[in-house]
Amino acid sequence: KTTAGAGESQENRLVVLAGPTAVGKGTVSAAVRDGHPEVFLSVSATTRKPREGEVHGVHYLFVSDEEFDAMIAGGELLEWATVHNMARYGTPRGPVDKALAEGRPAMLEIDLQGARLVRETMPEAIFVFLAPPSWDELVRRLVGRGTETEAERERRLQTAQVELAAEKEFDVTIVNHEVHQAADELVTLMTLGVPSKKSD
Ligand code: 5GP
Repeated sequence: KTTAGAGESQENRLVVLAGPTAVGKGTVSAAVRDGHPEVFLSVSATTRKPREGEVHGVHYLFVSDEEFDAMIAGGELLEWATVHNMARYGTPRGPVDKALAEGRPAMLEIDLQGARLVRETMPEAIFVFLAPPSWDELVRRLVGRGTETEAERERRLQTAQVELAAEKEFDVTIVNHEVHQAADELVTLMTLGVPSKKSD
């Protein structure tokens, strides 16, 4: 249990991590999960199909459209969004509330739409933008993963341009030069907070 100084209340830190496609959000979250077991990492529900190696309950809760509808209807999701016009993704509310109540640092890795929704309901959270070292590096990473066609890449890069412009809405920017360094910076924010949260 964490104790705060006399008269101070220990604030629980919820970090919301967002950033453009191919910036490495997934890799940085995995580094937080592996290196910092004390951190609660939210497991999102999604209607997309699992990829090779993805485990139900670890990477996502893979649910049907009907199950996702029921989660929305039951008020179980803190936020949800349709991403890349394909699948729906949402953050189960209960586990996040529980982790924060227990005083654990917590993190959500969600898309920009989701981050904007959480900002409305939990403005006290710390909103972190994960940025690529440069535009050229982002292009290189997207091409390098080789999972998209030329046309799909063009579409994603156009989206990325719009997404990069969202940086100014965030409290903090972390540049993803190196995955472990980015993960450590995130954990520091969760445990120590931002000295003065930028006001809009
Ligand atoms: P992927 O299908 O590649 O795992 O994720 C696609 C996108 O969905 C990523 O940008 C990721 O941040 C976003 N995402 C994952 N979980 C959630 C969630 O719970 N809510 C929202 N709004 N976006 C999510």
